This record gives sequence, structure tokens and C-alpha cells, in this order.
Amino acid sequence: MKNNNLIPSNFNNSYDYWVFDLDNTIYDFNLGLFRRISQRMTDYIKNFFKLSHADALNLQKDMYKKYGLTLRGLIIEKNLDPEPFLEYVHNVSFDDLKIDLELKKLLSEIKGKKSIYTNASYKHAENILTSMGIFEEFEVIFDIKDSNYVAKPDQKSYLIMKEKFGLDDDKIKRSIFFEDTAKNLKPASELGMSTVWIENDFNKDEANDLKEYINFTGSDIKSILNKMLRH
Ligand SMILES: [Mg+2]
Repeated sequence: MKNNNLIPSNFNNSYDYWVFDLDNTIYDFNLGLFRRISQRMTDYIKNFFKLSHADALNLQKDMYKKYGLTLRGLIIEKNLDPEPFLEYVHNVSFDDLKIDLELKKLLSEIKGKKSIYTNASYKHAENILTSMGIFEEFEVIFDIKDSNYVAKPDQKSYLIMKEKFGLDDDKIKRSIFFEDTAKNLKPASELGMSTVWIENDFNKDEANDLKEYINFTGSDIKSILNKMLRH
């Protein structure tokens, strides 16, 4: 990694566009919220296609492996209607998420434009951000529908995002992207964005393989922003 230790520098003056992944980036991976969403995907597939639990899980995993997003695969191979699927899978309890005043304060200190770039739905992003009390900190939420159901890390998704955020080739160099899924940082880096990997064991090997595409890392969003903005 080019700058593993987050050497203090003026991030606020270096970046005008701050782009954040949502799940497991904005909130802690350990909450298990995303695991519950994944379980609801299995349930939906099981009921919709009338499969056993094991077959539903296999289909879910296959689609994820092949297309980078279960839903994308189900649309292409099974002609699935995305909206009822998204509504069902994101209908989880957000009780574990608490208003996070510390994160809100850190986000408010960012001078640039803040956006969310997620493979989930707008509604899901709104639920999470509202539960954490940080919804109004973000100017744009770019969701899976905005990318025509093409998911990160497909390069096409980033090109649509780039267009929607108005990031021309100069502006993209002044943008920084935060993600827990290491492979999603590669296309961003190739486009010219600076990248931040939120450390987690699940993605450790992948992050190591992709280290040339990762500029900064840290254990969680708050400690990273704290270092970037207050040193
Ligand atoms: Mg994520």
C-alpha cells in the first residue's frame, strides 16, 4: 500500500469529492446487518423459485461469483424483477444502528462534496443513514438502480457513477473513495480516484493482492476520518 500509515497531510484541501460505500463501510462490519440481508436474499430465492434452502444458497453464491452481485445474475439469468427483491432483502431491522454524533461531526468537517456509492437500494441507504443520524450529510446517493443494476466492481458501474457525480478527468483526481470490499477499489483507482480500504478479515487476502490499488487503510471509518481531518 502506498501510504499504509495515513501520514498526516491536508486531506480537506487535497480532495473535493468524498465518495463512500455504504454497507460495512459507514457502519461496523461486526454489527452483522449485512449478514441478515444476505439471509433474506436466500429466503427470497428459496420462496420465489421454490427451491430447497441449500439450492437457494447455491444459486445465490453462483450468481454472486459470476456477476459480482446476486441480483445482477438473477436479472440476467432468471429474468427476475429487481424491485420486489430489493424491497424484501433490505427489510431488516436497523435497531443495532445508533445515532452516531461522532461520525456526524467528522463528516461535517469534510469541506468537499460527500456522496454514497452503493450496490444496494436508495431506500436501504436512506434507512441506514437516517438510523445513524447522518442522512443529511450526503448530497448524492448513487444506488444500484442508478447504475442500471450493474454492480461494483464492474467498470461500467463506475463510469455511470462518474458521470452522475459530474467527475470529469480533472475532478476525479481530486476524489477519494472509501470501501470495505477491496476488489471494488481497483476500478476506482484505475479511474484516477484515491482509495481507502476499511480493514476487515474477510477481505484481507484480496486487499493484499490488490495493494497497488489501495492508497490508504484504517480499521474503521471514524478512526480514518479522524486521522485525515484532525492531524
Ligand atoms: Mg461494503
